[in-house]
Amino acid sequence: MYTEVYLGLGSNLELPVKQLGTAINLLESTLDHIEVAPIYQSKPLGPTGQADYFNTVVRGWTTLDPIKLLDACQLIEDKQNRVRAERWGPRTIDVDILYFGTSVVKTGRLTIPHPEILNRAFVVFPLLDLMPSGSSPGGDYLNRSDYDHSSLKQINQDHKD
Ligand code: ATP
Ligand code: CA
Ligand code: CA
Repeated sequence: MYTEVYLGLGSNLELPVKQLGTAINLLESTLDHIEVAPIYQSKPLGPTGQADYFNTVVRGWTTLDPIKLLDACQLIEDKQNRVRAERWGPRTIDVDILYFGTSVVKTGRLTIPHPEILNRAFVVFPLLDLMPSGSSPGGDYLNRSDYDHSSLKQINQDHKD
């Protein structure tokens, strides 16, 4: 059985746009019919003094269950040499599960829908590019005008290699 999923990708280290492209290429073996939103650049959340972040959202279809999908996402983070230091600290790549169909998951390792979606313009903007109706699988209604996006800009660079 296939489930439609949305993943949030982010990077702020070691050529972030290239890191996003690498992660998307690796996701091709986990997800079918991948579609990718434009990339957005923004100022960091959390610890100050970090480089700008580059974020996008990927939609695709998977036969995995949520935990196996998380394993696949974390394997990609490992392959791209992510070092887990401080929370919200700099990273080569971050792959979050935003939505897994309409499923609600709450375990020690996994919360779906991702709890921060509605608090983050850099997630909501690329999500809306893939989901123009604004009606999310989580049952929320997303709207760009709810966000201060003064430090968010869509970039034209292609994320493909
Ligand atoms: P945030 O979750 O606020 O965006 P983060 O992405 O920087 O922060 P990480 O250090 O990448 O946080 O992840 C910490 C843990 O979050 C992971 O080991 C994973 O078990 C857990 N987690 C819970 N829900 C999710 C989810 N929906 N997608 C990815 N990881 C999740
Ligand atoms: Ca994250
Ligand atoms: Ca994460």
